[in-house]
Amino acid sequence: MTDPTAPSDAARAARHRRLCEADHRHLWHPFTQMQDWLAEEPLIVDAADGVHLVDTLGNRYLDGVSSLWCNVHGHRVRAIDDAVRAQLERVAHSTLLGLASTASIECAEELVRHLPAGLTRVFFSDAGATAVEIAIKMAFQHHQLRGDTARTEFVALRGGYHGDTIGSVSIGGIDLFHRIFKPLLFDVHHAPQPYCYRCPLAKEPSSCAMACADAVEEVLAARPGKIAALVLEPVMQGADGMIAQPPGYVRRMREICDRHGALLVCDEVATGFGRTGTTFAVEQEGVVPDILTMAKGITGGYLPLAATVTTERVFESFLGPYAEKKTFFHGHTYAGNPLACAAATASMRLLREERVIDGLPAKIAALSRALEPARRMVHVGEVRQRGLMVGIELVRDRATREEYDYALRAGHQVAQEARRLGAVLRPLGNVVVLMPPLAMTEGELGALAAIALAGIEKVTARI
Ligand code: PMP
Repeated sequence: MTDPTAPSDAARAARHRRLCEADHRHLWHPFTQMQDWLAEEPLIVDAADGVHLVDTLGNRYLDGVSSLWCNVHGHRVRAIDDAVRAQLERVAHSTLLGLASTASIECAEELVRHLPAGLTRVFFSDAGATAVEIAIKMAFQHHQLRGDTARTEFVALRGGYHGDTIGSVSIGGIDLFHRIFKPLLFDVHHAPQPYCYRCPLAKEPSSCAMACADAVEEVLAARPGKIAALVLEPVMQGADGMIAQPPGYVRRMREICDRHGALLVCDEVATGFGRTGTTFAVEQEGVVPDILTMAKGITGGYLPLAATVTTERVFESFLGPYAEKKTFFHGHTYAGNPLACAAATASMRLLREERVIDGLPAKIAALSRALEPARRMVHVGEVRQRGLMVGIELVRDRATREEYDYALRAGHQVAQEARRLGAVLRPLGNVVVLMPPLAMTEGELGALAAIALAGIEKVTARI
């Protein structure tokens, strides 16, 4: 039966055209070459349900990258919708500066139930970048307050990505994004990236004994008593192209930090909330960092909320009489926003009550099976998967691992094909990324993988 209240095709098309024009006139999209954008017709998301996005023309697409790595249970989930609505009936926003709020207390309490034991103190903010910015300042001030005042330097990994504020960019290690800002940044010691497919140390995984971990230790050992913290994305570096770390790598990082008196900061903005198969990726390595950052999936992908969580040991170094000024002088207006906290609490309760993590192994295996044909494709160099995070690295030449030229936009072309086939993807250069919501069924995961592979076949055959 047709819905008599639905707009006609002509009305839909007219609305779509008007919105396209207005977008082109007024918006500046993030991480987007606007000259290309202005020459193309945008896909305009108008609605969503479950794991599908719906555009202004009524087309439906699988949300293949979880609306930028944040959606968890799908869109318009009853329990989360209801929690946000109920919160709206009480208060949309109140501050955490000098006041407490029901929603932030309940959220922190629920969050601690999901965290590795020992991480019990929650500092809220509103984006991944702010969560990392806070971690950097906390680590720095922690050492200052303890009298370890020479510990003012940071170590991070090449290829790391931690957000776009100046502190997060300083820690970051992606030349394409970060190089131009170099004069604005503070110095950070960048250690080699654990990228086995293109090993920066020119070693082989079978015989290297994780030499890249030794290289991190060398950096800390060369600056005794100077390093405040080592900051890294555990298990999988996301934005550089889903660079999966060898098993045991994060544990080695923990040991190195312990040996050299540095804090370990794990940035789980991308990997948190089940993405790699466990609630937090560090669990896979039995590691408890001193500081853990999160954002994206904390609200189920509904609203902006982030958290920097620490051990009581870090927290306690900030305690003291008012006049000693040990206070952490940092805070964002919308820190712990009640609407976002209500969404987060509801999303985390769903994770717990519906035992979502327990259901992941079967889904991860299904996705892996569906991606099997990619491993034999002539222009696929490597398929990297950790849980439901996948990077498929396209190469011009499989034997030499020669990359496609940047200007060809190979990944983008695959995403455009995928769109025609019914899935939204957002690539990272020559790496096709799949990062589905945890809620996708095995069938939907298979369909998503099939679309990505069809797009890869088509594009690599013609470029
Ligand atoms: N850290 C990591 C590991 C990320 O992947 C991202 C975002 N992709 C960020 C930090 C920044 O998060 P936000 O965009 O919310 O600032």
